[in-house]
Amino acid sequence: MHKDMKIGLDYDGVIADAAEMKRLWIEENLGRSLSKWKTHRDECIGIIGESDYKIMATILYGKDWTLKTPEVKDAADCLRKLKQQGNLLYIVTGRPTRETDFAQKWLAQKNILELFLGIHNIHQGIGDTKAQVCRELELDVLVDDYLVHLKQGFPKKRILLRDGSPETIKMPDGVEYARNWQEVMEKLRQ
Ligand SMILES: [Mg+2]
Repeated sequence: MHKDMKIGLDYDGVIADAAEMKRLWIEENLGRSLSKWKTHRDECIGIIGESDYKIMATILYGKDWTLKTPEVKDAADCLRKLKQQGNLLYIVTGRPTRETDFAQKWLAQKNILELFLGIHNIHQGIGDTKAQVCRELELDVLVDDYLVHLKQGFPKKRILLRDGSPETIKMPDGVEYARNWQEVMEKLRQ
């Protein structure tokens, strides 16, 4: 692995298990049981509708639900390892600024906040797409669970993480697919 890679990490779905919280919210509030793999934005809107999706997102990114979100399996251990190996870690999130603060609280609660050199969102600051933020920070890698952010051609190495997914997904050119954090680590070694 190259030393000193600058690695961008999405927060929801890559570090905190937002998909599990969506599944839970839909079950509790709409009485529907949906697999975690159907909760990604576009597919989920197709199933529960845009207005319920918006209501859910507001609650999910709010303080209470953010703070009770579980960690994506192995995320914290792998992030510690990446940092120990000399890589520079940044969060690049689509959360609005206030909700990004809640994410920061969650990271502090899990004792991993100090691993990151910066926490950036696409609503305030250095860019309004993830690709722009990555370019400004001169990142080498972006790991995200939402393909839209990885189709923008930057950074050079882009990894879609769908933790625990049984699905095989055809990737666009330049995007690699990982089904758990161990696979992310393997791809970062290549
Ligand atoms: Mg995400």
